[in-house]
Amino acid sequence: MKILVLNGGSSSQKSCLYEITGEALPEEPSQPLWEAKVDWSHHQGMAEIEVKTSTGQRLQEEIPAGSRPEIIAHMLDTLWHGSTQVISHLSEIDAVGHRVVHGGKDYRESVVITEDVKGAIARLADLAPAHNPINLEGIEAIEQHLGNISQVAVFDTAFHAHLPDAAAIYPGPYEWVEQGIQRYGFHGISHQYCAQRVAHLLNRDLASLRIITCHLGNGCSLAAIKDGHSIETTMGFTPLDGLMMGSRSGAVDPSILIYLLRQPGYSADKLDNILNRGSGLSGISGISNDMRQIQAAKNQGHSRAQLAWDIYVHRLRYYIGAMLASLEGLDILVFTAGVGENAPDIRAAACEAFAFLGLQLDPEKNIHKPVDVDIATPNSTVRVLVIHTEEDWAIAQETWRLLKK
Ligand code: ADP
Repeated sequence: MKILVLNGGSSSQKSCLYEITGEALPEEPSQPLWEAKVDWSHHQGMAEIEVKTSTGQRLQEEIPAGSRPEIIAHMLDTLWHGSTQVISHLSEIDAVGHRVVHGGKDYRESVVITEDVKGAIARLADLAPAHNPINLEGIEAIEQHLGNISQVAVFDTAFHAHLPDAAAIYPGPYEWVEQGIQRYGFHGISHQYCAQRVAHLLNRDLASLRIITCHLGNGCSLAAIKDGHSIETTMGFTPLDGLMMGSRSGAVDPSILIYLLRQPGYSADKLDNILNRGSGLSGISGISNDMRQIQAAKNQGHSRAQLAWDIYVHRLRYYIGAMLASLEGLDILVFTAGVGENAPDIRAAACEAFAFLGLQLDPEKNIHKPVDVDIATPNSTVRVLVIHTEEDWAIAQETWRLLKK
């Protein structure tokens, strides 16, 4: 089965084509036949497209940054035309899997997309205005270019759909519960993939493990996983809660917002912009949302970069502590995504606080670009793994499972 995966961001669009043959899913993550990424965050009016194939073909060019459906059409063209061609016609694609950020209360697992599902994704845009409309545009673009093909929505909230009430419900008025104002949690596709992957790598039964997964990318969140289910997570009603992130604040005292709204010149939109785009590493350092640049500036003695790094680590430790309490213990700590996979200093600083548990990192293993390996010492009481998250592969697997049923 050839499965196309679509993963849209605010100014980017990623897509991969996987082929799954045989009657069972492979144990190791498959490499895509083709992968494409379009990014239009840097240049006004222009976008950069990068395409790679499993046979080593590469394409990199600038294209006009049109609408998302136009950009998707351009990406799809590279699947069956030119040097990156991997199929002879788009009709060879059997199904399309989409990452959909918010499934709300209605969608607690992946679903085959129907008109009703599209309606629900559109309605849930109230809860995820920066994400769900993008996901819907992707679904409609596929209808436009591939006609009546089977499409599956894989939700970032689904893995957290069974949080206990005590973790999911905010201690506001009870009406909030009735209005759907509660903790949903995000990055679920990645947290679930990492939990399953560590259980497989360590040859352990997922149901017997207490795991904390740290997804540290541009967006950052933790999940506490017990019996294979997420029982606590740091993101909340929206992806703004919890840890300090690249340009998002994470949790702040809500009274700060009330205070600012009462000052001249502040509006809800301005606060939205400050909290989502002008905070976090970028807001504190004044340099960048990118951890690499923060590390470089900190090493040159830049005091605000040092402060940004310190707050990031402080918050990470603080929330690992919270997850630990919910799990009542810990077997495995996982680091994943851009920072989690590539920043040994962040991993070491986070782990140092938990030495009292008997958690011990092997400094050599930590420093040497670990991928899907255990970086704890043999006698550490907690295994620590760096896992390369494979959200697109997880979406392809879900799509396959659902359509095979
Ligand atoms: P997204 O959350 O957008 O999917 P990623 O998971 O790819 O993003 O994470 C991107 C972030 O990872 C970058 O902004 C950067 O902060 C961080 N990052 C990537 N490579 C490194 C590295 N070698 N060292 C430290 N941080 C890195």
